[in-house]
Amino acid sequence: MGVCTLLGNTAICTKRHFPSLPFFLFRRWRAPTDPLALVRYYLPISGFSERYPYFPFYLKHFSDLGLIEPLNRAVKAEGYTTPTPVQAAAIPLAIRGVDLLGVAQTGTGKTAAFTLPILQRLDESNRRLTPHATRSLILTPTRELAIQIGVSMETYGRYLNQRHTVIFGGVGQQPQVSKMRRGVDTLIATPGRLLDLMNQGFVRLDQVEIFVLDEADRMLDMGFIRDVRKIVSKLPSRRQTLLFSATMPQAIVSFAEDILYEYERIEIKPEATTAERVGQRVMFVEKANKQRLLNQLFDDPAMDRAIVFTRTKHGANRVAKYLGQNGIEADAIHGNKSQSARQRALEGFRDGNVRVLVATDIASRGIDVDDVSHVINFDLPNEPESYVHRIGRTARAGAEGMAYSFCDADEIDYLLDIEKIISQKVEVDLNHAFHDDRIALMHATPRKGGKSGRSSSNQGRGGRSNSGGGNSGGGNSGGRRRRR
Ligand code: AMP
Repeated sequence: MGVCTLLGNTAICTKRHFPSLPFFLFRRWRAPTDPLALVRYYLPISGFSERYPYFPFYLKHFSDLGLIEPLNRAVKAEGYTTPTPVQAAAIPLAIRGVDLLGVAQTGTGKTAAFTLPILQRLDESNRRLTPHATRSLILTPTRELAIQIGVSMETYGRYLNQRHTVIFGGVGQQPQVSKMRRGVDTLIATPGRLLDLMNQGFVRLDQVEIFVLDEADRMLDMGFIRDVRKIVSKLPSRRQTLLFSATMPQAIVSFAEDILYEYERIEIKPEATTAERVGQRVMFVEKANKQRLLNQLFDDPAMDRAIVFTRTKHGANRVAKYLGQNGIEADAIHGNKSQSARQRALEGFRDGNVRVLVATDIASRGIDVDDVSHVINFDLPNEPESYVHRIGRTARAGAEGMAYSFCDADEIDYLLDIEKIISQKVEVDLNHAFHDDRIALMHATPRKGGKSGRSSSNQGRGGRSNSGGGNSGGGNSGGRRRRR
């Protein structure tokens, strides 16, 4: 490492020159040149910044991450100056070809944390495209997220000459097949349609140099993990793998150990940061009064761009219809809606024509809209992790936001589970017309042996810790299992 550093910005060493040093040090990469940047560059990699997070030099600028000029230019054009913690931790490692296990959720800037290194590494290896093949594969659970990542690829790769395409189900396959005819640098895909096109011989994965599995926990929740395993079995075993997951249930930990090789673990603590940035209130209300309470909340003009979460698709439709009948522009987004209807709803919401988006959890994963003023949990989620994802919609890219949660008598256990994983009590809002003291009392004195406590299964390796302000690990926390 030291030798490459001394040679400066364009250092390219080969294993042949330094046979005793580990292989990964000899990938092509560019170290920053000025002394201060060098300090910023190496401290996080050495684990120093993890041990001394207050150290003032800890990566503060994008230009210190070791990205090539066309990427720095694209990032600057986007108006980013400071990398988010996941970017600061992941990019320097990923551009050196290291496998990563990233515990980070959407909203932390993780898309750039993997798209920028992909663009850089593919630019550096500069191999030819092979018909029907892709040089990197990003697997993601939902269509919306796939489209969103495609947009990010386009944005960050605007000064490079790389081809990418997005494939997902629910639309005709022909345009996707045509795009794959020449081959692409990056393929962004949902698992079902990808397998389908692979089985028909339109997509091959034997040229993949970099594989990203995004939102692995959501893949598991949505029942895609078998499909993902099938896809992984078609990848070359010599590749770089980056796995991102918002939470780390045991199933994901074992899966990660199967598919990663000598990986570094990066852990961003979104629970704590989100909880700090989002104002949270719980409103104890009878089920029958929830719609009226919702309607009343929208009397506040400050609530100009809100996402309302329901547990079911029918619930989402009902709430959107009710709001519409009361003169509040609302649209629903969930898995039963066609792709074009979902896109229309999202665009209306982004443009400001639709004030309220009513969503289920699965659909919410692809909602990348800044400046969401409020999140309202019309129903509390039965998985406490979803609460964190939901309220994170209103604290994107460092913004602050407000989250209201309606809690009826049947949802007390869900609320207790949530409070357990965010390690704090949610402040009770008593100042609304539908406050129900009986439910508040049930919450204050939970019965013994209730359902709450189920989240303890998710307390494994790093899934739930709430300490600290979002810096990352790296260094010594990686694993070494050989991938399958
Ligand atoms: P993601 O977690 O990738 O979905 O990103 C969440 C939002 O943060 C997106 O709207 C990005 O455009 C924005 N974003 C990502 N990285 C940065 C950064 N370094 N500075 C400011 N905004 C960013």
